[in-house]
Amino acid sequence: MPNSNDELRKLLTDVQRYLKEEQQTFGEYIYTDSTMPPKKQTPQQEEKKSPETPTEIDLFGNAVVPAPPEAKSGNVAELATPYPNEPWVKATSLDELNSMICTCTKCPLGHTRTKFVFGVGNPKADIVLIGEAPGADEDAQGEPFVGRAGQLLNKILEAINFKREEVYICNILKCRPPGNRDPQPDEVEACLPHLWKQIEIIKPKLILCLGRISAQVLLKTNASLTDMRGKFHDYRGTKMMVTYHPAALLRNPHWKRPAWEDVQKFRKMYDEMKAAEK
Ligand code: URA
Repeated sequence: MPNSNDELRKLLTDVQRYLKEEQQTFGEYIYTDSTMPPKKQTPQQEEKKSPETPTEIDLFGNAVVPAPPEAKSGNVAELATPYPNEPWVKATSLDELNSMICTCTKCPLGHTRTKFVFGVGNPKADIVLIGEAPGADEDAQGEPFVGRAGQLLNKILEAINFKREEVYICNILKCRPPGNRDPQPDEVEACLPHLWKQIEIIKPKLILCLGRISAQVLLKTNASLTDMRGKFHDYRGTKMMVTYHPAALLRNPHWKRPAWEDVQKFRKMYDEMKAAEK
């Protein structure tokens, strides 16, 4: 039992973080031991969960009715970002695009960043990986996924026989949100067209979204990670898959197995697409 205010505060912070991660993964449900322990679920079982199976309760044990997705406001999935009429839209290479947008101050993050984090990797990559936003390490170095989550991402890539230099890695936001908070809708609205342009220039064969936020933004949905992962989606004619964010895997190692299944499926699809080209 906590015996001081500090310990109690720490406990509350841990509980809040845990609940947020559960929400990001499973949506608006709280799964109890007696309903659906995530560890014992196969990805297929997770996908097939019937609406009546989960017990949805609030923190006090009362049944709650989730708001329908359309009733939520201020969600990144609701954005209708138009393609802007700006000079960088005519960029024909990633270097040219980067040089045209790297001083961007369209949203407040442009004033608080240390470095603009454009993206890294092979400009002709078959595979594009998309995270959420730079963290402290990325902000300091100007490169995506260079911190602990990045090191895990490198291992995941190696495990499915991709080298970091062979793929392209970028984020929805190019500048760090203070305190690593979730991207705000106005920030996404301002930054998303840059990512569209990157994808347009690279023309990847496959896209892997790392975590719920990048997938929700690109697919314009409020769906939970559980509902989106483990299968292929269509993103403007390009096959896209969604899996756990490496930072979530660092905090919840029991998600590593379903993530491993996702990336193996992703690799298999890539091999099949390459074989079909021959
Ligand atoms: N998390 C992300 O989503 N992107 C990064 O570049 C680093 C951490």
